[in-house]
Amino acid sequence: MAQMTGLGRRAVRLVPVDAAGRMDIARLRGLYDGDVAAGRIPFLLVGTAGTTGGGAVDPLPEPARLAAAWGLHFHVDAAWAGAAALSDRPRPLLAGVERADSVTVDAHKWLSAPMGAGIFLTAHPGALADSFRVSTGYMPPDSDTAPDPYLTGVQWSRRFAGLKVFLAPAAAGREAFARQVERDTELGILLARRLAEDGWPRINDSPLPVICVADPGAEAHGPDRSDAWHAAVVAHVVRGGRAWISRVRLDGRPAIRLCVTSHRTRAHDIETAVAALRTARVATPY
Ligand SMILES: *Cc1c(COP(=O)(O)O)cnc(C)c1O
Repeated sequence: MAQMTGLGRRAVRLVPVDAAGRMDIARLRGLYDGDVAAGRIPFLLVGTAGTTGGGAVDPLPEPARLAAAWGLHFHVDAAWAGAAALSDRPRPLLAGVERADSVTVDAHKWLSAPMGAGIFLTAHPGALADSFRVSTGYMPPDSDTAPDPYLTGVQWSRRFAGLKVFLAPAAAGREAFARQVERDTELGILLARRLAEDGWPRINDSPLPVICVADPGAEAHGPDRSDAWHAAVVAHVVRGGRAWISRVRLDGRPAIRLCVTSHRTRAHDIETAVAALRTARVATPY
């Protein structure tokens, strides 16, 4: 985003994380103080609820409080884990998100909408109009009843992406989404346990159904061999067509990532994935 808006990547500070991949608040303070002392003007703080690779959830109340104290806009990237808000049980994982100035959630991830259906939520709708409203004689005037999306975003000619986001809950009901999030979370726990039993220790620390595992035998051969080996195992599983998994690096450590986000996944699919990994491991020498 910094690149696209012309601010430049050098304007971005990456806040170091703790061992669980969560934002290190002491380091955040240090970065902020350093920038202010150098005469720079921080204006935006971004937290993540569910990182893509390892499912880490930042301790959101902390950056929310600091952003308020420092007068920064607080944005939360909840691209896939934001769906947890639909169920009372996993919702506490997102504690603090309610204090965000804006939140992004992708309906095309855990909410099962076809690609692409990104959602931007903000407590300050006026800011969108301030940023994007353009008046011309040839476009329709602002409606009194509902803000026209072309006045609140960069895109003018656009598809009705909201229809598919609306239709699924309209047909299945919110309860169905809540049950899916709960079921997937349970299946994630089952998956982690079954993988551990099969000699795949979990290396990420997340309450979400994203499980990252690394093979200790491959790791003993050093990072390069480990990377190539895990990549080969992933390719074997994907070629088999029974499960889709991906490779990931967590804190530089090569690993395999399995994520449960489909409303169709059931316990037997978990067994299928574990069996596919077992077959791939047997077929892949270190
Ligand atoms: C997928 C993802 C994105 C990117 O979202 P797209 O809308 O699919 O481009 C951003 N942040 C996180 C945490 C994600 O998981």
